[in-house]
Amino acid sequence: MAWVGVLSLQGGFAAHARALGEIGLAAREVRDARELEEAGGLVLPGGESTAQLRLIERHGLAEGLEAFVASGRPVLATCAGLILAARQVGQGGGSAVRPGAGSERERRPSQRSFGWLDVEVERNAYGRQLDSFEARSDEGLPLVFIRAPRITSVGSGASVLARWRGEPVLVRGGAVTGAAFHPELTPDRRVHRLAFAAIAESVTARPARSTGGSASAASGDVPGQDPGAGAVHRVHASERSQLHRSGA
Ligand code: GLN
Repeated sequence: MAWVGVLSLQGGFAAHARALGEIGLAAREVRDARELEEAGGLVLPGGESTAQLRLIERHGLAEGLEAFVASGRPVLATCAGLILAARQVGQGGGSAVRPGAGSERERRPSQRSFGWLDVEVERNAYGRQLDSFEARSDEGLPLVFIRAPRITSVGSGASVLARWRGEPVLVRGGAVTGAAFHPELTPDRRVHRLAFAAIAESVTARPARSTGGSASAASGDVPGQDPGAGAVHRVHASERSQLHRSGA
């Protein structure tokens, strides 16, 4: 049965595994290339993107991750994960905000990214280092921001699924969904459902072979939308309506 891997090198992976379980998807922590090969979908969790980048290199996972994304299997990249997935990690201006506060450049350091999602982001761009806050997206989605990246530009390869104060906070490009916030820390499961709808569909399309039964709960969660496995590339319009429908 298809299961979703949660990259578990650093950061908030456990809450994602729980969130996936809540929508009836099997989840496993993933730390090596073999596990990655077997996963049907992948979560890149929040945490500290510089540390995650180092650990990806140390574990020799970069190639496996590239292959995973190239295969078209669904990916949900949240916060630090979004920073890793972005086409570009930009820098703020060079000036100090106030004496002793450190320059924008120090607070919003640029770094290497993989370019799986056609967006540019700026790190720690919603306030001071420790800032975290809750809000609602313009569409009503609950948002938890923790030293969040700001999506400063969205290229033609991605589309915006949700905004906060007019700025993009949830985007999608191909099978990759990116959130600047932490959907796993709210009770609302729409983002996880949306990101992995193709898996839920492919599992429920073969009920006779589904032995674990953990996908059954997902069958009623994405009603009326039947993109089937791999069809996530063409469901932007229906995604928006799913996401904005009231109720988690
Ligand atoms: N500020 C972190 C970074 O730059 C991301 C924060 C998060 O994932 N909550 O990696």
